[in-house]
Amino acid sequence: MPFLAASLVAIRRKCGKAYCLCASGEGHPAHLLTFKDGRKQRAVYVPQEIVKEVAQWVKSHKRLKQLIRDISGLQIAMVRLQVRLRREQRKA
Ligand SMILES: [Zn+2]
Repeated sequence: MPFLAASLVAIRRKCGKAYCLCASGEGHPAHLLTFKDGRKQRAVYVPQEIVKEVAQWVKSHKRLKQLIRDISGLQIAMVRLQVRLRREQRKA
């Protein structure tokens, strides 16, 4: 399962061609991926043809993060249980 730790943002972008309709309008629809590279915030344009795929990768990463949180929560519960078991063993 491919995943991507970034945010996908829909934007409007002017192509720079002087005679394009976008020069006077609001620009062509485009997508940016924003992510952290160390402490720097970075962005990269996503070709329209792969936007859907990239969106899937970003979604997979969100799911993965949630899964990590859930499993960590379970592991904490396991540790707590071990503490309680040991306490009760000492009493017996
Ligand atoms: Zn244009």
